[in-house]
Amino acid sequence: MTIITRFAPSPTGNLHVGNIRTALHNWFLARKSGGKFMLRIDDTDAERSREEYVTAIRQDLAWLALDVDGEERQSKRLGHYETAFQKLKADGRVYRCYETAQELDLKRKVQLGRGLPPIYDRFALQLTEADHIAKAADGVSPHWRFKLDHETPITWEDGVRGAQKFDPAQLSDPVIRRADGSWLYMLPSAVDDVEMGITDVLRGEDHVSNTAVQVQMFEAMGAAPPRFAHEALLMGKEGKLSKRLGSLGCESFKARGIEPEAIVALLARLGTSQPVEPIADRQALIETFDLGTFGRAPAKFDDADLDRINTAIVHQMDYAPVADRLPEGMDEAAWHAIRPNLQTVAGAQDYWRIVIGPIDLPEFSDDDRVFLAEAAKTLNFASDDPWHALTGALKDSTGRGGKSLFLPLRQALTGQNSGPDMGELLPVLGEETARRRLERAAG
Ligand code: GLU
Repeated sequence: MTIITRFAPSPTGNLHVGNIRTALHNWFLARKSGGKFMLRIDDTDAERSREEYVTAIRQDLAWLALDVDGEERQSKRLGHYETAFQKLKADGRVYRCYETAQELDLKRKVQLGRGLPPIYDRFALQLTEADHIAKAADGVSPHWRFKLDHETPITWEDGVRGAQKFDPAQLSDPVIRRADGSWLYMLPSAVDDVEMGITDVLRGEDHVSNTAVQVQMFEAMGAAPPRFAHEALLMGKEGKLSKRLGSLGCESFKARGIEPEAIVALLARLGTSQPVEPIADRQALIETFDLGTFGRAPAKFDDADLDRINTAIVHQMDYAPVADRLPEGMDEAAWHAIRPNLQTVAGAQDYWRIVIGPIDLPEFSDDDRVFLAEAAKTLNFASDDPWHALTGALKDSTGRGGKSLFLPLRQALTGQNSGPDMGELLPVLGEETARRRLERAAG
């Protein structure tokens, strides 16, 4: 059976690191088995859904290179929900209710006060047809609840949490349709999962109680439920991420110089028993992806980890894929010389400024100036390795070593006290520039 997974964001905001993780894991699950990864836009909430977020979601997935095999939009599938609803209605699995939000709130408070679970008391099931007619005559439309089957325990084997069991009598019959006819999340999602042939639903553990209800919805629709897996939520280092989620989206990652491969490498394994490593090879991550390694404890997201992985990923990046993001004129040799010093690709700009200049020189002592004049004369690009040729010759001719040998040369050639490996940088500077800088420093 081909595995079909889906990522089902609501376009009411930008994707954040938690959504990205869910998308990524569903993508891995599909790609590992040669299956399909579908995007489903959950836009039944017309008021809160925005087209700009739909566009942003697609762009973020593209930036992360999470290719999708198809896209559905709930707003275009309303007829399907109506059909499913009519069938459930004919089967007596949905019922009309009239309680206002305030009335429900009060009921919950009373139940909690008595130490009872705050579940819907099914009061509306006692209404007679005459009651419904009277409501309609008053111009009050009902909202609809799905009637859980209290006799059948809900069970499933969760891909992360193992065997799950719920007593349906401990759950509220969920509202599935508002009085204005619009849909809440619960039924459309189950209808789509059936009709899109979704075999595996992988989502955050905040959906576990939804799953319990949806298992019965699948059954009520005459469909076998998909496999379910619920991963532990993502936490910040200091606790809940929710306050910071706004700053943890692709746009801000990009602005910070984070490579998509760094996010992917981190989120692929965070919260699993596998080590988080700067693995830029997507195939390697796909092959090692395994729900069986997912822990039950919340995964801890730490910006410092992301920066560390990013730095290591940047150090591995080949020239071709970054070429169009590098400063004009920066060639492959220059990229290789500079790469090990970077935390972000954008940082190449700063190093390139060292190469093209102008550079600011520190004050040199008279001794150093004499030494640098000697260096300018000694410089010889005939050798394969002009830096070692230069420093080797100067060591012999001046008796200098260590810092007194290397630091004035680095300062004269780059204007900095530290930076790229000089063996790699000197050929990038070129003989003419290097000699000019040494002569200038010598005064
Ligand atoms: N739109 C829902 C959400 O973002 C989808 C949940 C699901 O995966 O079914 O939470």
